[in-house]
Amino acid sequence: MRLFEHQGKEILRAAGIPVAQGQVVANPEEALLAAKEIGLPVVVKAQVLAGGRGKAGGVKIARDSNEVCRFAQDILGMAIKGETCRELLIDPMTDIATELYAGVTLDPVAGAPLLMFSHRGGVDIEEVAATSPDDVLKMHFSVLAPPPQYKVLELLGHLDFDSATKLKIARVVVALAKAYLENDCTTLEINPLVITGEGEVAALDAKAVIDDSALRRQPHRCAAEEPKTELEKRARDIGVQYVRLDGDVAVLAGGAGLAMATMDMVNYTAHAAGSFLDTGGGISSERTAEALRISMSTPGVKGALINIFGGINNCEIIARGVVDFLESDKPGLPVVVKMRGHSQDEGWTLLEEHGVPFIKYGTTEEAVRLLVSTMDGEN
Ligand code: ADP
Ligand code: MG
Repeated sequence: MRLFEHQGKEILRAAGIPVAQGQVVANPEEALLAAKEIGLPVVVKAQVLAGGRGKAGGVKIARDSNEVCRFAQDILGMAIKGETCRELLIDPMTDIATELYAGVTLDPVAGAPLLMFSHRGGVDIEEVAATSPDDVLKMHFSVLAPPPQYKVLELLGHLDFDSATKLKIARVVVALAKAYLENDCTTLEINPLVITGEGEVAALDAKAVIDDSALRRQPHRCAAEEPKTELEKRARDIGVQYVRLDGDVAVLAGGAGLAMATMDMVNYTAHAAGSFLDTGGGISSERTAEALRISMSTPGVKGALINIFGGINNCEIIARGVVDFLESDKPGLPVVVKMRGHSQDEGWTLLEEHGVPFIKYGTTEEAVRLLVSTMDGEN
């Protein structure tokens, strides 16, 4: 999950990296108020996830109130790389002497975080890396701990800064690496990291990408991912992927690919998928019953198709969940199961004993046909 600049700056600030305190605003009036509080001149910055805002006209220095209003008006609603700008960050203007680059990203080849530093920040770092690779210093470090300060000082060794400045930069870089690890980032980048006219070091921009698989460990970061409906919350609580759709057939499958293929087949009939649910691997009977309960409570749903390829999932355990749900909830709506693989015979036996319609050796298409014909009252 990519964060906005102002969210990325919160991470940097919490890590002890010097970052000016700006304000996030949503209209020119708020921008003006913020600018008055901060003190002119200010920088008006588009809050979009795309990079290269400066080049696209999304970063402007406003020297007076008129400019604050004008730039706020111009930038709000602006499309930057197809993304509409809805909020601005109003930041104090910094007196820049030098623009540097510092970033950490995941190197999938080395299987380790990669620290990068360049004395040529501010511009497109990919271009510097492509045209003058020697200007980007690189160092891998362990996922267990940030690199020690002396290692970073070694890396910066030949650069033309005085030792006090080098030390300030090294502290920021170590803090950046630590914040990268602690926030489960796949990228955490400061471009530009500047040296100010007074010789201080400060981060003027922040790009942070949080590893999606780690969002549950970063709950304060995933407000945007928060489930909105009660059914979505329940699905999250049992660890399944659930999406409400517009049709009348609840599709539950083991694996997103199988679920999508099943939905496609349902959508070829006169019916359409009303919900998508991916059980994931290793689902229990209890969670199967709850998954079916969630799917069949989806507004508009009139029947359910369960399509399982048992690998990590066990067909018998899933069949037990289906039977338990049907017997406890008595939904009064048709349910058809197709399951193959791990413990299929035991699963089939259970379904048979409890009169649940299922497809044994046939195809998903047959399962779809059986369900829709039942829903259409032909059976
Ligand atoms: P992007 O990387 O999306 O273009 P940045 O935040 O890096 O956006 O801003 C682009 C450029 O604008 C920076 O390289 C810097 O020169 C200038 N800039 C950004 N913030 C400030 C600031 N607070 N004070 C002065 N100049 C700034
Ligand atoms: Mg930048």
